[in-house]
Amino acid sequence: MSFNFELMKKMGHEQVIFCHNPNVGLKAIIAIHNTALGPALGGTRMWPYKTEEEAFEDALRLSRGMTYKSAVASLNFGGGKAVIIGDPKKDKSESLFRAFGAFVERLKGQFITGEDVGIDVNDIEFMFMETDFVTGLSKAHGGSGDPSPMTAYGVIQGMQACIEKRLKQKGLKGLTVAVQGLGHVGEKLIEYLVHEGAKVIGCDIDPKLCEMVKSKFNMTIVESEKIYGVDCDIFAPCALGGVLNEQTIPQLKCSIVAGSANNQLQKDSDGELLQKKGILYAPDYVINAGGLINVALELEGYSENRAKLLTRNIYYNLKRAFEISEEQKILPHVSADRLAEERIKKVGFIKRSHVLHKSQIRRKN
Ligand code: NAD
Repeated sequence: MSFNFELMKKMGHEQVIFCHNPNVGLKAIIAIHNTALGPALGGTRMWPYKTEEEAFEDALRLSRGMTYKSAVASLNFGGGKAVIIGDPKKDKSESLFRAFGAFVERLKGQFITGEDVGIDVNDIEFMFMETDFVTGLSKAHGGSGDPSPMTAYGVIQGMQACIEKRLKQKGLKGLTVAVQGLGHVGEKLIEYLVHEGAKVIGCDIDPKLCEMVKSKFNMTIVESEKIYGVDCDIFAPCALGGVLNEQTIPQLKCSIVAGSANNQLQKDSDGELLQKKGILYAPDYVINAGGLINVALELEGYSENRAKLLTRNIYYNLKRAFEISEEQKILPHVSADRLAEERIKKVGFIKRSHVLHKSQIRRKN
């Protein structure tokens, strides 16, 4: 693949913007996938891509995912994403992020951005100096703060739907959950799980995090490679993408896979492998939408209660995806796509504008 209209056409993109400022070493790509439901919302990723083509393809793939995630989460936003080519460990500077923020400003609310891999709240604060069209700001700036606790809350709602569907029971009490990744989402998820009476087994490649979480929750920690083979009811991937594949699926001893990681299936056909093993898969972008809901609400004037109310709908969204999957004899991740496409078709372009006007941002600052 390379840069071309063919790929945009195939993936259904509206617009791709190349941003270049040689004075500060900025090379970034903003991809706007679909604005039928509202302005494109999606984070900015900073990554040392080996080639510009790789960055272009990543921007296209990630922005398309955002369209689907927003649509299923009933948000009035479309899908977009930006990538900055660079090493987040070496190439960050105030000028780089302000220059990028200036490009976002030029789009006048067609695209609103926030944190993604390699970008933290300090970088967003620099962008905010040049544009209002950012979200995920710190609470000190009237923002909604770290979205991870809401993501974890949404995963719990999704787990409840999975348990009812696959185990024909209600609640997590007495169930065993294996959590892969004890970072921002994983740790909060464990707190919820322990509170709900579940037994938790965890792993992380970071030994310090393992020690901290082990002593905090008095739980079992296993070596990272052993997590797949743990005897459990639910496997919760909360680390990286691509963890459900031909090597790992045969090792799984769970009934349900439900976690926060993005792009959990390495290939579409891995969804089939899970089904053949009798494992119910909660489509990732449906179950992990809590964080997106959180940052979207920041633009309307953030309220944690409202964010929780909307995030609870993840339970109903997953139930609906499972129903469609059963009725139409399709895999759950395919039925989730259908749900998104149906909402875009029916609700898209009814009344929402595809840009957000500054006057519409009600951030409390
Ligand atoms: P994080 O970086 O805080 O935590 C990820 C953890 O996974 C780290 O502690 C890391 O050491 C660990 N890890 C990496 N490779 C591992 C491996 N092979 N085995 C075990 N542990 C490993 O990230 P996070 O914010 O907690 O997000 C977790 C996942 O959820 C990511 O895939 C992210 O894209 C996704 N997600 C997060 C949010 C959010 O609100 N933070 C929202 C939606 C999706």
